[in-house]
Amino acid sequence: MSDVLLKAENLEVAFGGVKAADGVNLTLNKGEFVAIIGPNGSGKTTFLNLCTGYIRPVSGHVWLGDKEITRMAPRQIARRGIARAFQIPQLFTDHTVVENVMLAIASREGIWQALRPLDRREYRAEALELLELLNLRDHAETIAGTLPEGLRKLADVTVAMALRPQLLLLDEPTSGVSALERFPLMDTLMKAMKARGVTALFVEHDMEIVENYADRVVVWNAGTVMAEGAPAEVMKDPRVLENVVGV
Ligand code: ADP
Repeated sequence: MSDVLLKAENLEVAFGGVKAADGVNLTLNKGEFVAIIGPNGSGKTTFLNLCTGYIRPVSGHVWLGDKEITRMAPRQIARRGIARAFQIPQLFTDHTVVENVMLAIASREGIWQALRPLDRREYRAEALELLELLNLRDHAETIAGTLPEGLRKLADVTVAMALRPQLLLLDEPTSGVSALERFPLMDTLMKAMKARGVTALFVEHDMEIVENYADRVVVWNAGTVMAEGAPAEVMKDPRVLENVVGV
């Protein structure tokens, strides 16, 4: 069986005159934790949008496992196993944390309203188990809108994990979180993803986080992949230092 989970081949898309994806090639293996770095405007978000169906490429292909997903709608892609956290607010702020996770479970099961999902004991049990895994069990009954930023980010991930993704796309998991909280947050995320066998791709500006948590780093520049490899190696590349890290 192949170890490849996601494969992007020659993706191209332009907005006006700007080539936001200019021949993107990238392969993710099952179980990897891969960071994307690159200057603002280099096309990192565009790539996540291409993988999740929010943008369709002019040319090129994306496969998830052996299925081509290039022109599928976002909902179809989500059903096939790509979930995204952070960029799109996913929490219902006036519901409790556990209710948010239960609603995500219900939407995965496709019976969102018809069967009063918040009354279902099996959804509650599954949601509490997930919250335990993300160290949020003590906040299960907290109103989501009142959570501090770091915990809200974990709650976002819990909701995304409730969809049972194969691949989780994270947009700057530690942005807006205090320096002291960053590492515990990442430790919790890693533990949960490894426990559930989830592969992750995360956009990150914080090089300390990249060096400590990514198995591999992919460097974006001007709509394409400029370099990739182990963080310690890639960070030594003078082109990366000049274009991305800014020294
Ligand atoms: P990054 O995430 O690396 O900051 P983006 O993928 O957001 O970069 O943007 C890449 C380029 O494409 C930028 O020049 C941006 O202005 C442009 N772009 C991205 N999305 C759109 C869009 N929906 N409409 C017009 N231009 C866009």
